Amino acid sequence: MDTATFNDIGAVVQADRAHVWHHLTQHKPFETIDPRVVVEGKGLWVWDATGKKTLDAVSGGVWTVNVGYGRESIANAVRDQLLKMNYFAGAAGTVPGAIFARKLIEKMPGLSRVYYSNSGSEANEKAYKMVRQIAHRRHGGKKWKILYRERDYHGTTIAALASGGQDERKALYGPFPDGFVAVPHCLEYRSQWGEVADYGLRAANAIEEVILREGPDTVGAIILEPVTAGGGVITPPEGYWPRVQEICKKYGLLLIIDEVVCGVGRTGTWFGYQHYGIKPDIVTMAKGVASGYAAISCTVTTEEVFEAFKDDSDPLGYFRDISTFGGCTSGPAAALENMRIIEDENLLENTTRMGERLMANLRALQEKHAVIGDVRGKGLFCGAELVANRETREPLPEKTVAKVVAATMARGVQIGMTNRSLPGLNNTLCMSPALIVTADQIDQITDAIDGALTEVCG
Ligand code: PLP
Repeated sequence: MDTATFNDIGAVVQADRAHVWHHLTQHKPFETIDPRVVVEGKGLWVWDATGKKTLDAVSGGVWTVNVGYGRESIANAVRDQLLKMNYFAGAAGTVPGAIFARKLIEKMPGLSRVYYSNSGSEANEKAYKMVRQIAHRRHGGKKWKILYRERDYHGTTIAALASGGQDERKALYGPFPDGFVAVPHCLEYRSQWGEVADYGLRAANAIEEVILREGPDTVGAIILEPVTAGGGVITPPEGYWPRVQEICKKYGLLLIIDEVVCGVGRTGTWFGYQHYGIKPDIVTMAKGVASGYAAISCTVTTEEVFEAFKDDSDPLGYFRDISTFGGCTSGPAAALENMRIIEDENLLENTTRMGERLMANLRALQEKHAVIGDVRGKGLFCGAELVANRETREPLPEKTVAKVVAATMARGVQIGMTNRSLPGLNNTLCMSPALIVTADQIDQITDAIDGALTEVCG
């Protein structure tokens, strides 16, 4: 590595400004200001090129770095594995690939097979391809449609976007492939049916209405986030999941659970779906699997789904899919060490305890600041929806919400907000600190938000 060049931070920033196209970012401001370049992380702390130190309350911006920055043991595990065997195409097995799959399956009773790829989008694409191939092979080409929920997000590729329920992410990228059909969201605070006695049941029944409208023989699967992330941190209402499970059974739908955000500890259990007694057919995961130390995603299935791809009487009777970098061994090597850390440091327990503290602090802020309309969350995964008017629930304008985020950052804490999700509804502050967060750090996060709300909203 050319250390001298790496250490010339001024040159690094200028190289970035001149040549890097940043994700999800409007670049016009960089004509006059420098982009942010991060240079170092330790625990929850991040240092940027200007020397500013920030407490990261969003685990790398997008709820990813679950075990915190600067983990030497993960770096060592990856290094050792890379020197031994860095890569082989996934038609062959590898040592960390096999051992991590076994360990993962131990945490997921009812599931048995792990398919490796690189990103959340890709993991979901694999799930869709499984559904489609099953439709062709088992249902004569019928049951090919896949339902998704308004406000959920499943990735950035064209098919994953087609199954996304966030209009601002989809805008200007159509036309999309056929066969992805929306069902209503389940955020009671923004109820589509006014005040109903049993909102959870109502929202789940809305799925059945869509199935009946489309024709049950055309619908093969539904994909859902256990707790919706970027769409506004939406925890499922009481009664929702049992009814969803019933509906899937009744109409023969495969249930795909997208654990890209919730997976591997974020909500205080290994997987978000495990809070709700759900029995999925396919589970996808990515971000927290290796906490961003290496790229890895997994599409995990039941043995029944796997068996559908074992027909050797047909040359096309297996899962004809590959992900070149799904054969990188750095991913499962990092994931194994990541999981060991979560177990040995009791991070699921810490997540539950610190998540409760974060929620309690946010509820106290809600008492104090009328601008907080609703507080939601599970484990270390929380959102505070900001409103201009508590009675009417009129959303706070996005620009004002962005000012709150900036004012929190000025106080040394980075939080997030719903970003290009739904028109007029980019108004939820998001918090997802690493699972190692301490009580003092939780208080520091909410103190900064408190100060920011006072400054921006009065
Ligand atoms: N699913 C969910 C719930 C996500 O939040 C994301 C990304 O934010 C994805 C899928 C896509 O993951 P990736 O960006 O790794 O493709």
